[in-house]
Amino acid sequence: MKKKHLLLACLCLCLGAVKAQTFEHYFTDRTLRVDYLFTGNAERQTICVDELSSLPRWAGRRHHLSELPLAGNGQITMKDATDGTVIYRTSFSALFQEWLETDEARTTAKGFENTFLLPFPRRAVSVEVTLFDSHRQVRARLQHRVDPEDILIRRKGETHVCPHRYLLKSGQADRCIDVAIVAEGYTEAEMDMFYRDAQTACESLFGHEPFRSMKERFNVVAVASPSEDSGVSIPRLSEWRSTAFGSHFSTFYSDRYLTTSHLKTLHDALAGIDYEHIIVLANTDEYGGGGIYNSYTLTTAHHKDFRPVVVHEFGHSFGGLADEYFYDEDVMNDTYPTDVEPWEQNVTTRVDFASKWQDMIPEGTPLPTPADNFNMHEVGLYEGAAYSARGLYRASYNCRMRTNEYPAFCPVCQRALRRLIEFYTE
Ligand SMILES: [Zn+2]
Repeated sequence: MKKKHLLLACLCLCLGAVKAQTFEHYFTDRTLRVDYLFTGNAERQTICVDELSSLPRWAGRRHHLSELPLAGNGQITMKDATDGTVIYRTSFSALFQEWLETDEARTTAKGFENTFLLPFPRRAVSVEVTLFDSHRQVRARLQHRVDPEDILIRRKGETHVCPHRYLLKSGQADRCIDVAIVAEGYTEAEMDMFYRDAQTACESLFGHEPFRSMKERFNVVAVASPSEDSGVSIPRLSEWRSTAFGSHFSTFYSDRYLTTSHLKTLHDALAGIDYEHIIVLANTDEYGGGGIYNSYTLTTAHHKDFRPVVVHEFGHSFGGLADEYFYDEDVMNDTYPTDVEPWEQNVTTRVDFASKWQDMIPEGTPLPTPADNFNMHEVGLYEGAAYSARGLYRASYNCRMRTNEYPAFCPVCQRALRRLIEFYTE
């Protein structure tokens, strides 16, 4: 009997020790950068490994390692190759997945670069990448082995590091969320202007709750990546420029959609700098931008709506928030089918509303909440969200994720962002 107790006590002690040492047990203080190619068409998709590299430090979280912050449209799971223990997970969305919904994807196959940062394992691991469709079915999956001793893992960021300047330094990289603001379409001679624009982006972000009250959990670094030409490419005007990341408007023939598909070059510019989230500022007064969850925000720095737009896009890329705007004529779209609960925390199809903000709605609030007396109901259930006027709902009449004029995130977006910041930092 006594022996049994002792054994139990030992087991508990061991378990405690494993938990406390998990990061150091499985990982070293370096980053494993994995570059993938997502290829295919609307019918069939494939994931390929492009290149593996190693970066000098690990700036990400060292706790909640095997948990996902959000479900995302894609997931990465790293397992210990010997015993199969899940040692790290992360989620993302990809431009490739958006492209699969376009007409072009029905007639041709294309390949898209995707780069992810993982903690560098001490021992051999298996890494699994999964892409989901809008019904949460697996679209493509790749499992590959990574041996940390592999001599072909390229070392990056050790000699040539892009010039950079901290705009906010709250603490060490492993304790804070590290945001890099990167220059696109700024020549060497325009870098003072870039640093001023980056400062404006930073001020706008931390002017919004919950970023304002949780500012001490963030580091923000501005990275002066130079371009040959000033400005960015605008295909509809036949203006093509040679810029650091080759970004352009009219992504998928949508005039305002500004993106880059040169993810490897973007990450190369950041090698040697501690970063987890990326904001690319484009040197143009054209209106546009985009934000892709755990990939990047890209927005234009000299448009009059720069301040709200950069925060809106960061809501996508950092917070995994959905757009809350919609089009009256659009009653259904393939991106958010109404028979599935979307993973984004600020929209619902009511398939599983309890998993969203049901708990935040005051008793007596009519559901759905009529839009004509929105002043009475700060948090309710307003129909129209995520591009669709019917079948998708948002929490508040207005929000940073709906319009540029409204000054704040709605309470539901604020809670979702706060939870995410806590996940990364506690
Ligand atoms: Zn919102």
